[in-house]
Amino acid sequence: SQSESGSQDYLFKIVMIGDSSVGKSNLLARFARNEFYPNSKSTIGVEFQTQKLLIDGKEVKAQIWDTAGQERFRAVTSAYYRGAVGALLVYDISRRTTFDSVGRWLNELHTHSDMNVVTILVGNKSDLKDIREVPTSEGKSLAEAQGLFFMETSALDSSNVTEAFYTVVREIYSILS
Ligand code: GDP
Ligand code: MG
Repeated sequence: SQSESGSQDYLFKIVMIGDSSVGKSNLLARFARNEFYPNSKSTIGVEFQTQKLLIDGKEVKAQIWDTAGQERFRAVTSAYYRGAVGALLVYDISRRTTFDSVGRWLNELHTHSDMNVVTILVGNKSDLKDIREVPTSEGKSLAEAQGLFFMETSALDSSNVTEAFYTVVREIYSILS
C-alpha cells in the first residue's frame, strides 16, 4: 500500500517455531519489549506482536507470531503458518532433543507455508555454556545443509537477539522490494 508520506508500506508475517521451552516467547519479549521472564509459563505468549524496523531507511513492519504453548501437543495449526514469509526455528543449545526436532519443524513449516519462507535456525540459551549439548559447529552445519541462516542467541543476556530478527527481515525485504 501507499502511505501518506508516499513511501511503500511493508508488513511481513514471521513465525516463531521450535519445541516447547526453548525460549521462543522470551526471544520475542526481549526483542519487542526488552523484557525477560525467568520462570515463564506458556501463558505469556501473545498471538502476535508488530514491530517497526528500519531497513535501508524504509520502515518495515514485522508481525511476529508466537505460539500459546500448543507446540507441546504438536498442535500448531495451519492458520499459524498461513501467509508467513519468515520463520525463526529455535532450539535450546543445552537440550539435544530440541535440536533433534529441527527436521520435523522444517517439514511442518514447508507443508504449511511457501517453500521460500526465509528461515533462520536459532540456537538459544547460549549463556548456558557449561551445560551445552549442541556444539555451535553442528548448528552451523545443519543450517548450511538446509539453506538456513544461523545464529546462537540468548534471550537472557540479549546476545544476538536483535541481530537474529533483523537478519530475517532484511532478507525478506531484499527479496520482496
Ligand atoms: P517457549 O516455550 O519456547 O516459548 O520458551 P519460553 O520463552 O517460555 O522459555 C522457557 C524457559 O526458558 C523459561 O524459564 C525462560 O526463562 C527460559 N529461557 C528462555 N530463554 C533463555 C535464555 O536465553 N537463557 C536461559 N538461561 N534461559 C532462557
Ligand atoms: Mg512460548
